[in-house]
Amino acid sequence: MNPVIAEPVTVLVSMLSHYAYCPRRCALMFVEQTYEDNEYTLRGQAVHENVDEPGWVQREGQRIERALLVWHDELGLQGKCDVVVFRDDGTPYPVEYKSGKRGYKRADDIQLCAQAMCLEAMFGKPVHEGAIYYHSSRRRRNVTFDEPLRQLTLRTIEQVRQLLETMRIPPPVNDHRCPNCSVVGLCLPEAVASLRQHTDDRDLYALQEE
Ligand code: SF4
Repeated sequence: MNPVIAEPVTVLVSMLSHYAYCPRRCALMFVEQTYEDNEYTLRGQAVHENVDEPGWVQREGQRIERALLVWHDELGLQGKCDVVVFRDDGTPYPVEYKSGKRGYKRADDIQLCAQAMCLEAMFGKPVHEGAIYYHSSRRRRNVTFDEPLRQLTLRTIEQVRQLLETMRIPPPVNDHRCPNCSVVGLCLPEAVASLRQHTDDRDLYALQEE
């Protein structure tokens, strides 16, 4: 009988930015499947509505695709690009739309880099750069997919896959990221952190008593 080889768990590109923002947020959303809208996510959805409808246009000799599904079989990665501009020579240039002025830069970059890796695998062209477009400031930030960013993206893919496989919920970071977080109402970072501190204190006290 042939041994059963387990398929690697598929990681969604969108999970990467949530994990890079806070691993607990990614776990609450995709392991616990709890999700709560707040003003930031609602604004984000409104921005994405403009680019969520698949389609394409030809402009100045360049093909511009909206809501393009992308994947990378080897990495077990799937996702969607808001916009991909195909240069004259066919090289893809991904653009991700964000609702805020400037989000959590590293998380945005990882998400975009993962999209670029998928596009490279699909179209066989190296993708060296892309851009994040911040809707409220109407500014575009170019991102170069250099080796450190690629390595960070690969590490994040593996970390998310581990999270999905183990289904463990990490502890709260309980810092400046929490007030703007979409799942703060479910996460209760302060309450959980104080409970953990209380438990640690009690364990320490019990050790001292032994
Ligand atoms: S509220 Fe804070 S700890 Fe909880 S998921 Fe969000 S960022 Fe992470």
